[in-house]
Amino acid sequence: MVLKLYNTLGRKKQVFKPIKGNSVGMYSCGPTVYWYQHIGNIRSYVFADVLKRVLIYDGFKVKEVINITDVGHLTSDGDEGEDKMEKAAKKEGRSAREIADYYFKIFEKDLDSVNFIMPDKWVKASGHIKEQIDMIKKLEDKGFVYKTDDGVYFDTSKVKNYGELGLLDKEGLEAGKRVDLGDKKNKTDFALWKFSEKGSKRQQEWKSPWGVGFPGWHIECSAMSSKYLGKRFDIHTGGMDHITVHHTNEIAQSESALGVKGWVKYWLHGAFLNFGGEKISKSKGGFYTLTELSEKGYDPLVFRYYLLTGHYRTQMNFTLENLDSAKTSLKRLKNILSEVKDDGKINEMYLKKFEKAIDDDLDMPRALAVLWSFVRDAKAVGKIKTIKKMDSVFGLDLLVSEKLEVPVGVLKLVKDREKARAEKDWAKADELRDEIARKGFKVDDTGSGSKVQKI
Ligand code: AMP
Ligand code: ZN
Repeated sequence: MVLKLYNTLGRKKQVFKPIKGNSVGMYSCGPTVYWYQHIGNIRSYVFADVLKRVLIYDGFKVKEVINITDVGHLTSDGDEGEDKMEKAAKKEGRSAREIADYYFKIFEKDLDSVNFIMPDKWVKASGHIKEQIDMIKKLEDKGFVYKTDDGVYFDTSKVKNYGELGLLDKEGLEAGKRVDLGDKKNKTDFALWKFSEKGSKRQQEWKSPWGVGFPGWHIECSAMSSKYLGKRFDIHTGGMDHITVHHTNEIAQSESALGVKGWVKYWLHGAFLNFGGEKISKSKGGFYTLTELSEKGYDPLVFRYYLLTGHYRTQMNFTLENLDSAKTSLKRLKNILSEVKDDGKINEMYLKKFEKAIDDDLDMPRALAVLWSFVRDAKAVGKIKTIKKMDSVFGLDLLVSEKLEVPVGVLKLVKDREKARAEKDWAKADELRDEIARKGFKVDDTGSGSKVQKI
């Protein structure tokens, strides 16, 4: 079995081979916790979760770290604007700490509801200020930084391969086009440390060798990943929006500070979830959260199923109609499987096909197609044991039967119908069956009594 992953660095599928033996160090860029995470954010983490599950399936030992950005992410991707956390704190009349804790808890609950396997470590930017300052000091000692009126900046012209990940041209026009040059020497230079504005007091600010302030957004990921995963590690994930700025800058500062080449071996990026043709975005608002979908009657695992119908590198356009078909498919799958008996066998043929799909750059739509043809193949043996293995990657609880909540009124009709049948009053039994159906339930007569299902 050979796992191939598409590496953004080099832009091709490569055979996955960890830096050291069988252990995989994996870092996923976490969310900025100033607001609810939307279903687009969740797509990013379900992609990372599938990747982790495939690695585990293939026998690798994974150590995963995810950060929580609770300071330093400004409202523009350049180094301008307000700190998103401070802005939310002001708006909600709560402290930045409270805001971060509140939205992080909801995020964790959301992840749990889509069967996300939690990372070995959550790391918060505000809890690693010392590590970030130390890294900036290292960069300063090596001559990569300069100071302006508003902060300490990384001089990207000092790095030969700057922009390789984002395929930026020499002038870095792509990353730079939204950025005002200000006091910066180059368009692509970015803040490592920002000073608190004179005369105003921020909720979150710290002393540093350069002045009171807070870390820039990118430095947290470099400082924390190297602390927990070492100077070099295997996989870094994030959404595609991070390629040209955030990850490009992470590489520049990490390789310069740590004195390594090929800081991260494989860069994997997930495509956007769009709505109405546009990327769902926290700053634009008007998006769905998992809670809202649940309130509309969509289980979070239906959303997970929906995500698996698209390849992680392909953009998906979210609609409730698509979610409806995911709901129907998942329900049908679970219903079929609830009827299957365990024969104790493994079906090697279908398992091989499944493994081929997941090892081909996590081709989950193909893996789902394999699952469906397996389920529909009346002659195929080994369904239960084999699908249990497959579900360790799908994460859809395929073999967990749904808790059927039957209203008391319906239960009474079922009882009345049983009585009518016992009295051989077939006309009444049929009438009651119709009434039960009008209430959305179906009743079957089995050797062990009536079996009630949702229609
Ligand atoms: P943020 O909190 O904006 O930094 O986003 C957290 C993660 O979600 C990052 O990896 C983003 O790339 C990702 N992300 C944001 N919006 C979307 C979207 N519409 N579709 C998929 N991923 C997204
Ligand atoms: Zn990051």
